[in-house]
Amino acid sequence: MAENKVVVIVGIPGVGKTTLLSRIEEAVRGRDRSVCVVSFGTLMLEAAREGDGGDRDGLRRMPVSEQRRLQEEAARRISSRDEEVVIVDTHAFVSSPEGYYPGLPEHVLRIIRPTNFVSVSAKPEEIYNRRMGDPSRKRDKITIPNIKKELDIQSGMISACSVLTGCPVKHVLNVEGKAEEATERIMGAIGL
Ligand code: ATP
Ligand code: AMP
Ligand code: MG
Repeated sequence: MAENKVVVIVGIPGVGKTTLLSRIEEAVRGRDRSVCVVSFGTLMLEAAREGDGGDRDGLRRMPVSEQRRLQEEAARRISSRDEEVVIVDTHAFVSSPEGYYPGLPEHVLRIIRPTNFVSVSAKPEEIYNRRMGDPSRKRDKITIPNIKKELDIQSGMISACSVLTGCPVKHVLNVEGKAEEATERIMGAIGL
C-alpha cells in the first residue's frame, strides 16, 4: 500500500498554485486513493472569523502575532485530516508590513508533519501579468524587480523547510499557457 502523504505546495501570489491544484483535484476525482486539497489561507480565514473577522487579502496585513495564532490553528485543522494524500495550498512566506514572515515556521511544520514540498515558480513577467489580470483578488502593487526578489526569498524559505523536516522539494515552473504540464509534473513528483 502507498504511504500517506502531506504535500505542501508553495508559491508567491499569482504564480498559479490554486489553478494547478484545482486541476489536480479534478484529475484524482473518483480514484481509490483518498486525496484532498486544503487552502491554508481559507483555514486561517475561518479561524479569524471565529474571532474578529477579516478578508483573505487582509490576513497578511494583520499583526504578526495574530498571523502566528491563525497559522497554528490552520495547521491543527490540517493535522486532523485523515485522507491518504493531503495537499496544502500555501505560501513559503507572506509579505507583511513587518517584513517577510515565514509561512511555515518550525512550530507550524511540527504540527503539519509534511512529507513533500512543491515550490511553484514562473517567469517574473508572467507572474506580474497574472497578478494584474486577476480582479478576484486584492493584490499588492508590485514591480518586476520585486517579484524577482520574492522568488529568491521563496527559494531560501523552502530550502530551510526542507532541511528542518528532511523532506524533498520539487521545483515546478508554471509556464504561461501550460498549466497542464505543471500539473502533471506535480502529480508525478507526489506519486498521483
Ligand atoms: P495566490 O497566492 O494569490 O492565491 P495563486 O498562486 O493561487 O495566487 P492563481 O489564483 O492560481 O494563483 O492564479 C493567478 C492567475 O494566473 C489566475 O488568473 C490564473 O488563471 C492565471 N494562471 C495560472 N496559471 C497559469 C498558466 N500556466 N498560464 C496562464 N495563466 C495562468
Ligand atoms: P491564498 O489564497 O493562498 O493567497 O491565501 C490567502 C492568504 O492566507 C495569504 O495571502 C496569506 O495572507 C495567508 N496564508 C496562506 N498560507 C499561509 C501561511 N502558511 N502562513 C501565513 N499566512 C498564510
Ligand atoms: Mg491561490
